[in-house]
Amino acid sequence: MTQITLENLAHSYLPQPAGPEDWALKPMTLTWQDGGAYALLGSSGCGKSTLLNIISGLLVPSQGRVLFGDRDVTDLPTAQRDIAQVFQFPVVYDTMSVRENLAFPLKNRGLAADVIAARVSEVAEMIGMTEVLDRRARGLTADAKQKISLGRGMVRQDVNAILFDEPLTVIDPHMKWELRTQLKDLHRRFGHTMIYVTHDQTEALTFADQVVVMYDGRVVQAGTPQALFDAPEHTFVGYFIGSPGMNLLDAKIDGATAHVAGTRIALDRGYGALQGRTQIGIRPEFLRLGQGGPGLPFAVRRIEDVGHHRIVRGEVAGAEVNVIVPEGQPIPADADRVIPDPAHTHVYVDDWRAQPATQERAA
Ligand code: ADP
Ligand code: MG
Repeated sequence: MTQITLENLAHSYLPQPAGPEDWALKPMTLTWQDGGAYALLGSSGCGKSTLLNIISGLLVPSQGRVLFGDRDVTDLPTAQRDIAQVFQFPVVYDTMSVRENLAFPLKNRGLAADVIAARVSEVAEMIGMTEVLDRRARGLTADAKQKISLGRGMVRQDVNAILFDEPLTVIDPHMKWELRTQLKDLHRRFGHTMIYVTHDQTEALTFADQVVVMYDGRVVQAGTPQALFDAPEHTFVGYFIGSPGMNLLDAKIDGATAHVAGTRIALDRGYGALQGRTQIGIRPEFLRLGQGGPGLPFAVRRIEDVGHHRIVRGEVAGAEVNVIVPEGQPIPADADRVIPDPAHTHVYVDDWRAQPATQERAA
């Protein structure tokens, strides 16, 4: 097991990259702590697999270094990195039985037969395939193959890290939950560094202690699920995490006041002069509905009951705004205002969260 550091890493698939759009990964420096359970979250095409393949050694980065502890492994082949990787599309040997498939990485390491047998039955249990251990992989369904592939990733205990690249795509939702629980359990018992790639926030938030969010080839924020919820560093994090995501409104910022669609909104800190596109971001959890009085003019479009709360969908000056109303709290019949909670109103400049100029909260 080891700490993994990516040092000034960047990658382009082109031989002679010119503009920023030629880089699948923009320069990044990032440390994955030994024993961490990480999710790597972002939409399709943002560079997650590229990053994973660089860590495992399937890909040599165009720039920068990969360190395992203090050791530079940038040019080391996968076989010498002691990394287990589970791919999005299962890699299963059709002519082998399930048991042989699971045993394969251990046989390769020359482990004793009884050690292999014990470990294989343990992993078979975890992925729910004890009953079919002696079946040939060929006739099995796609989700069974994905489970074998997952099991093969978990079977070695002497690895530096286990990398999962969207490993549960064809698994049904209940089984997904079950397998994710098993992965967490595996992490708790053996403490391997795990990096779990997904484009699904629920998967990321339920699996990981730390979530690394990527957008357009960049890591825009790495932190606990709570930190990503409380203080999204980039509008993408605000919008991608949360359901519905953060509301964003164009605003002019003047000290501790935001001017939005002709209305003044109080912020709890003051900001200095800001250059660029300025917006305020407020999660739907931190907007309150009002009728007349203070707040932003709000037009209700639709109310959705999602069980433990309701989502009121509407508009502020033509921009979509959602409000979450907790169970048991009334929705005013002619709600026409939304009132932001100043403690949870963030300011963004060109999509990045601005730091207040004053650390003291305004009185
Ligand atoms: P993700 O896993 O987040 O969906 P990828 O890392 O697969 O994203 O892709 C990042 C970008 O690099 C995309 O624009 C993709 O088209 C491009 N890309 C991925 N693999 C290759 C490749 N082998 N050759 C050229 N471009 C690639
Ligand atoms: Mg991918």
